Amino acid sequence: MAVVLTAEEALEKAAKLILAGNPVAVPTETVYGLAADATNGEAVARIYDVKGRPRFNPLIVHVSDMEMADAIGEFDPLSRLLAEKFWPGPLTLVLPLKKSAQIHPLVRAGLDTIALRMPTGFISRLIARVGRPLAAPSANSSGRISGTSAAAVNADLGARIALVVDGGPTPVGVESTIVKSEGGRLRLLRPGGLAAEEIEAVAGVKLERGRKAGLEAPGMMTSHYAPGAKVRLNVTEIARGEALMAFGPARAKGAEGAKAVCNLSPKGDPHEAAANLFSMLRELDATGAAVIAVEPIPAEGLGEAINDRLRRAAAPRDIDGISA
Ligand code: AMP
Ligand code: MG
Repeated sequence: MAVVLTAEEALEKAAKLILAGNPVAVPTETVYGLAADATNGEAVARIYDVKGRPRFNPLIVHVSDMEMADAIGEFDPLSRLLAEKFWPGPLTLVLPLKKSAQIHPLVRAGLDTIALRMPTGFISRLIARVGRPLAAPSANSSGRISGTSAAAVNADLGARIALVVDGGPTPVGVESTIVKSEGGRLRLLRPGGLAAEEIEAVAGVKLERGRKAGLEAPGMMTSHYAPGAKVRLNVTEIARGEALMAFGPARAKGAEGAKAVCNLSPKGDPHEAAANLFSMLRELDATGAAVIAVEPIPAEGLGEAINDRLRRAAAPRDIDGISA
């Protein structure tokens, strides 16, 4: 198991490990990240190794201020507007890479663009302390459920890393929203912790969805967040012995026969549901039920990201489908 330190006591130790080329699990506002120096190829390779992540799946680079961001990505006016409005926060911008940027190529997995985010909390202080951008995918084994608590991260990756920084449960609970500006148009590459509607209100344009030819956001494979149990979605009637992931005040038919029940948000609040999603998925999986049945969750706001993650959790698990 890794050493677990609270955010208050961990900064110096975490900075030392990062500068020595080691990945450290740290809290962000979205989910826990496995952070390493994005300028150091060996450190970045260790992220891929610890997660068992395929090398064609690029990483998001995290910065602590705009000066650091400007040294890495070419901001068009729309991307700059979104950064000004939503950073620090759960928004990732895909930008052309600056030629002079000191980011190791392994981070980009061969792309000529870079995914950039300015997070809040401990990771932000850590980036400022080491003075380098940090690559930080979610702190979980590739294809498994993202960690939203230090205990979950330690149980999954503790044997392979030295330090987990405990900042308590992550407030947002799902990964960042990823968008890419293309000549005044905006594409949604991954729904996440910032609702599409909020981005559209600021940008003044609709987010375009759906894939262009090829894998535009290469890590977005079908199966991901996979629990041991099978996952059944939009369930209005549950079978005896299934574990129930509920949402809102009204229950699916047969709920009284469930092996266990977790309610993502009894009052039907998508923010609360997002914050609970991964920990409740783990909790229901730990009951040993063969099936986790999930009640319908409205698609608006953060519901888009929640439904996206649940669809991936429910997807068939062929080897090609495993992602990070
Ligand atoms: P995460 O696993 O949360 O760190 O998210 C990384 C995801 O960001 C990848 O799986 C890709 O989908 C996306 N991503 C990273 N870099 C790029 C890029 N240059 N262009 C498009 N998507 C990217
Ligand atoms: Mg991930």
